[in-house]
Amino acid sequence: MAGTIAIKNGYVFDPLNEIKGERMDIFIRDGKIVKELSAAELKNAKVIDASGMTVMPGGVDSHSHVAGAKVNAGRMMRPEDHYKANLKKTSLTHSGSGYTVPSVYKQGYDYAAMGYTTVFEAAIPPIEARHTHEEMKATPLLDMGGYLVLGNNFFLMRYLRDGDIEKAAAYVAWMMKTHKTYGIKCVNPAGVENWGWGKNVSSLDEANIHFEITPREVIKGLTEINERLGMPMPVHLHANNLGHPGCYALTKDSLKIPDGVKTRQNMDVEWAETKMDPSRDRSVYLTHLMFNSFAGTTWGDCESGVKDIADYINNKDHVVIDSGCTPFGEATVMTGDGPAIHDLYTLTGNKWSNTDVEMECGSGVIPFTYLKSNPVHSLQWAMGLECLLLINDPWKTIMTTDSPNGGPFTKYPEVMTWLMSEAFRKQTFSECHKWANDRSELGGVNRELSLYDLAILTRANPAKTIGMVHRKGSLGVGADGDVTVYNINPQQLDPNNYEALLRTFRKAEYTVKGGEIVAVKGEIVSVPEKRTYYSEVHVEDEREKEMLADVKEWFRYYTLGFANYPTSEKYLENPTPIKVNGER
Ligand SMILES: [Zn+2]
Repeated sequence: MAGTIAIKNGYVFDPLNEIKGERMDIFIRDGKIVKELSAAELKNAKVIDASGMTVMPGGVDSHSHVAGAKVNAGRMMRPEDHYKANLKKTSLTHSGSGYTVPSVYKQGYDYAAMGYTTVFEAAIPPIEARHTHEEMKATPLLDMGGYLVLGNNFFLMRYLRDGDIEKAAAYVAWMMKTHKTYGIKCVNPAGVENWGWGKNVSSLDEANIHFEITPREVIKGLTEINERLGMPMPVHLHANNLGHPGCYALTKDSLKIPDGVKTRQNMDVEWAETKMDPSRDRSVYLTHLMFNSFAGTTWGDCESGVKDIADYINNKDHVVIDSGCTPFGEATVMTGDGPAIHDLYTLTGNKWSNTDVEMECGSGVIPFTYLKSNPVHSLQWAMGLECLLLINDPWKTIMTTDSPNGGPFTKYPEVMTWLMSEAFRKQTFSECHKWANDRSELGGVNRELSLYDLAILTRANPAKTIGMVHRKGSLGVGADGDVTVYNINPQQLDPNNYEALLRTFRKAEYTVKGGEIVAVKGEIVSVPEKRTYYSEVHVEDEREKEMLADVKEWFRYYTLGFANYPTSEKYLENPTPIKVNGER
């Protein structure tokens, strides 16, 4: 029976069901987790003997750059990146290449080899949604979705400036449907629009040039719209002033804006069983905290500001972050924050590309190498880990490298091991520039994450944060049959033996997706179907009509006609709309 499997005798870590390493069996029928299989079903099921091994839900990456125009720009700009990693075609799998920006096939296989089954693209410019969906469709194995970049959108800035929150909300709802996207992304609000004039914004109250709207007003407006619509996930914020010494203060002030906003997640879905309340309780999901946490005034006196932000987050309950760790080595930096990338270009002189996306947003791409010998890079390594170790509650943190900005996702095993092993961190301190130790708090941290914590940071919390717990991130009855089996015996786990941890995390013993074994010890063994999720947000027809009258009028400034703007479902693999009731 396809999608039917028994995973027996493993040590199970399922935080959403508060299962902390109990030895138990996991059963999957027709792709979904079930309580048990009948004797007849068991006879026909595949069986994995997970004795002495660790069993977790399939990995969920809630922030990665894997599809769309800027990812493809990175691929085209970097032929050298493709010499370094190649994949031969097999009877089952496509060939592929690329290290920091792998081709679509390779990235699907690489994620699955590590035990990941679900990946969300972090930034989709609306007008480029079709291209992004084409690449997501071509990425094998992974269930996917993506966030729509809206922090510098002309229509929204105009509505928000005029205080017309009703029409702004109707516009967001329509845009999600139109481009088959999942949540609201806000990148350097009001600043990217200024970049069109060669400028940026440097404070939350600096108005942008044309629309005269401030970052504070954009963040406030989008957060309000998000909850008014009942979106699955919080507003996903890439704060202003990223990558500049002293930026931590503005980051903290940005987090204060959505404090007190009442969250309202209003999805019409069937929920998998979980012991924990699966509903969303955060009003803001801040991305790549590391890049927004520099203290100091120049690159000469800069230091980590993570502690200060972590203290704030420790005392508040409305914030969840992902880390944006930098595990050293090659990266390709790519973001909708065009001016931030230009600053990096003036620092490095590396080849650089920049795009202005009509009336919507922008982006920049630049190759980058993080060196252990470089004082700032070493500090960034320490800061990334601080983001995950100084915030006490693991349910407020998600592990990422902002792939490929801090480093490619294939470096996750390194990050996971640093989090679990103080010995590994000490080893790295001994190899890198002393700023890592002198200018951060990491050296004084002896916290070592458990396998349970790790399951929160890489499965349960990314799924909960983005509102995918109804089918991802847990092993509760009704959840998708996505499971990772790592060859780690938790009874014999020795954090000092970090080489063993690294090896284990690089290649999962088994990756199971929808009840089918897709990878064994890093080898792809089957390529079942995948899905694409998006939010289908319903608002009153009348409100949509009023809003569309404005939008159509403004369409004369676009290079394409209104009728050609939407992305149709045929560009999506197994399109799976999540109905969101935007009526109050
Ligand atoms: Zn990102």
